[in-house]
Amino acid sequence: MTAPAVGFDRRTLARFRRALARWYRQNARPLPWRQTSDPYRIWISEIMLQQTTVAAVVPYFERFLKKFPTLPALAAAPESAVLRMWEGLGYYSRARNIHKAARQIVAEHKGRFPDEVAGLVGLPGIGRYTAGAIASFAFDRPAPIVEANTLRLYCRLLGYRGDPRSTAGQKLLWDFAGSLVPLDRPGEFNQALMELGATVCTPTEPNCPECPVRNCCAAFAAGYQAEIPALAARAAPTQVTEVAVAIERGGRYLVLKCPAGERWAGLWDFVRFPWDGARQPPRGRLERVVREKTGLDAAVGESLAEIRHTVTRFRITLCCYTAEWVAGEIARSGSDHRWLAIEHLERLPMPVTGRKIARLLQARSKNRLSGRHTARLP
Ligand code: SF4
Repeated sequence: MTAPAVGFDRRTLARFRRALARWYRQNARPLPWRQTSDPYRIWISEIMLQQTTVAAVVPYFERFLKKFPTLPALAAAPESAVLRMWEGLGYYSRARNIHKAARQIVAEHKGRFPDEVAGLVGLPGIGRYTAGAIASFAFDRPAPIVEANTLRLYCRLLGYRGDPRSTAGQKLLWDFAGSLVPLDRPGEFNQALMELGATVCTPTEPNCPECPVRNCCAAFAAGYQAEIPALAARAAPTQVTEVAVAIERGGRYLVLKCPAGERWAGLWDFVRFPWDGARQPPRGRLERVVREKTGLDAAVGESLAEIRHTVTRFRITLCCYTAEWVAGEIARSGSDHRWLAIEHLERLPMPVTGRKIARLLQARSKNRLSGRHTARLP
């Protein structure tokens, strides 16, 4: 029998579980990763959903599973193919870890997913939450979960005003999660908790009047649900300017593979560097920096676009230029740079901004062929 819950007495716990199960049966969204107990599909969805909304994940999930329908298929693919399927989803370490973990499961577990939290934790990219999700959703193990939606839900249920990311807060919430999860259908129960957090107990303006567990909620009873959870203030975004240069040589463009340890490790990009000078840099200075970075002499040409994008806490303004190769050979090893015709860039994984530049170059080239001279960002 389950021990009394942290914060809930036995009766309240039973009421909570019943109300949640009833609500979930009537309100669960039919998400593609919910129609299965296949740990591979559940794992991919859980990793994709980290830092990313459900709406953004659905098409990626479907494309990814079409390309890599099984764990052995994923393990056998080159990393670049995995990154290509991840392109645009961001946080690429997730894709690199998925690939490493797939190979590790094939090598060390004969291609079978460990079915317990202890065997899952420690695989690349799999922490306590993801292990609990796979173990409970796929194998019906009574493993607790705490992620963004359930963290908020638990804080409100408990009326916890402390910092949920602190050591004490984390211990409290994991203990609470452990006390909630039942032995009977724990996977469905955990999914119901997440669904309630995602759709009813939302970050701003939780829908308490429609909440099936409002009678068990300390924050609702006290009327301070909007003030919980207490989260540390986010650091203000940092404005950054960077320059990208698409260098052309005989109809081919130079792309470089981003090295290990960098933000976009394993992806390919045009020559790119930080810029702390004026937003309209003098050509001569740009050409000097290109020479320092690549060993190439290149004549910088027209400004192609200014792209604004955000990466973690950085708001980046990327000033994009074209350039013509003049002389020199690139000062990098042969395996990490290529001169490619624009249509061949489709095969390589690129950051979103690199892909935008490639599409812009393609549009510009078509416009030139058809006699038009302007190109717009797709
Ligand atoms: Fe969240 Fe309101 Fe439900 Fe409490 S009553 S769990 S604050 S939605």
